[in-house]
Amino acid sequence: MHELGIMTGVMDAVEKSAREAGATQVLEVTLSVGEMTEAIEDALQFAFEVLSEGSDLSKGAKLTINMIPPKSKCLECGAIYTHDRFHMLCPECGSFATQLLEGRELQIDSIEVDLPDKGTENTEESASLGASSDRA
Ligand SMILES: [Zn+2]
Repeated sequence: MHELGIMTGVMDAVEKSAREAGATQVLEVTLSVGEMTEAIEDALQFAFEVLSEGSDLSKGAKLTINMIPPKSKCLECGAIYTHDRFHMLCPECGSFATQLLEGRELQIDSIEVDLPDKGTENTEESASLGASSDRA
């Protein structure tokens, strides 16, 4: 399952950050996932539940996913438009010459953890997991 592989990488990064921060518990993880990654939101949630259930650090943590629709720029006429995974043609001029601007994101936006001394802290770090993003 594609999503299990993605979420395994996410959990590794989340737990590494949490440990480095001295956290005792991961409370909430927020991800941005581009639709062009072909990851299914429900499957990501399921993978997260399975993985967090098997981890003392992340057990009971909540996952929030922001799905990002694909957005492209037409290299012929300059139109910028959102589309789905299967329709990338420029809606203005019908050109195939397009450049994907958004939709391949796979990143951790925030990790909320429980710290024994300082209480709850929302980490500001943003970790990118390989997929490049050209967000304007
Ligand atoms: Zn065009």
